[in-house]
Amino acid sequence: MTATIIDGKAFAAKVRGQVAEQVARLKADHGLIPGLAVVLVGADPASEVYVRSKGKMTVEVGMNSFEHKLAADTSEADLLALIDKLNNDPQVNGILVQLPLPDHLNEDLVINSIAPQKDVDGFHISNVGLLGTGQKSMVPCTPLGCLMMLRAHHGSLSGLDAVVIGRSNIVGKPMAQLLLGDSCTVTVAHSRTRDLPAVVRRADIVVAAVGRAQMVPGDWIKPGATVIDVGINRIEKDGGGTRLVGDVDYDSCAAVAGAITPVPGGVGPMTIACLLANTLTATCRDNNIPETTGLTV
Ligand code: NDP
Repeated sequence: MTATIIDGKAFAAKVRGQVAEQVARLKADHGLIPGLAVVLVGADPASEVYVRSKGKMTVEVGMNSFEHKLAADTSEADLLALIDKLNNDPQVNGILVQLPLPDHLNEDLVINSIAPQKDVDGFHISNVGLLGTGQKSMVPCTPLGCLMMLRAHHGSLSGLDAVVIGRSNIVGKPMAQLLLGDSCTVTVAHSRTRDLPAVVRRADIVVAAVGRAQMVPGDWIKPGATVIDVGINRIEKDGGGTRLVGDVDYDSCAAVAGAITPVPGGVGPMTIACLLANTLTATCRDNNIPETTGLTV
């Protein structure tokens, strides 16, 4: 069997197109322009690349982008004061603080100081609690993108066995909550899981969010299963240079799976598309305007 490739790049372009249409509608019907503020502390090169590409895509869908670049030695008080200002700025509907933060800043404190309704990353404890109890929340972008692709591929996920490898707050745990919300039977595996290959072999859906290059080989995959690869790892290329690979061994898994997301071009592009979708959702909720079906859960 050769797996169907779930084209996250094309899917993300479609989601951004839907967001752009809705942004145009908000502008025409309500005079509203959604605004996304991104705060970057320090000059981590990878974070700078993410922030630049988020800003570019925000503008491309017709939203306002507000970038706040702060020095690496910014005090916690100054960062909290900026967040407070953004919380109270009616032009700002979404706030994202780029992680990781420098060591002297308390990440939990900073994230929990964002107004929950503007927390487009979905990391605030209120949003975590709302998601966990099946209530309307802001949903973390990466798992939301994975869920959208799974729903599009499978239709209903009800009753399917799902294994999420990884239990981080930003990917694994919210992914598990979303799959549970769609009535999967969910197993969350992690570094202490006994006999991981046997656990993964049960799964109709495997979501790998580990951060270990090509860790999952094809012989762990049940024939016909759907494999969602969240991992982004840079490895040395034969003959010099580097290339990006996921947490699954793509070639051997694609030979067994029913469907698979590639790296790059799978989950990655969906993450930014979902950030824009969340900013749209936040703007609609803030103004009592019906949300667009399919762009949130
Ligand atoms: P974390 O490092 O926060 O979490 C990794 C998880 O994997 C942990 O729960 C850890 O278990 C588990 N793990 C580590 N080693 C093993 C092992 N040998 N067997 C089973 N489980 C293991 O990572 P993130 O969740 O932040 O990210 C995961 C991957 O996804 C990374 O490659 C990251 O770059 C990528 N990513 C991609 C995004 C995208 O947009 N495509 C967005 C966010 C992340 P334990 O808890 O026991 O330590």
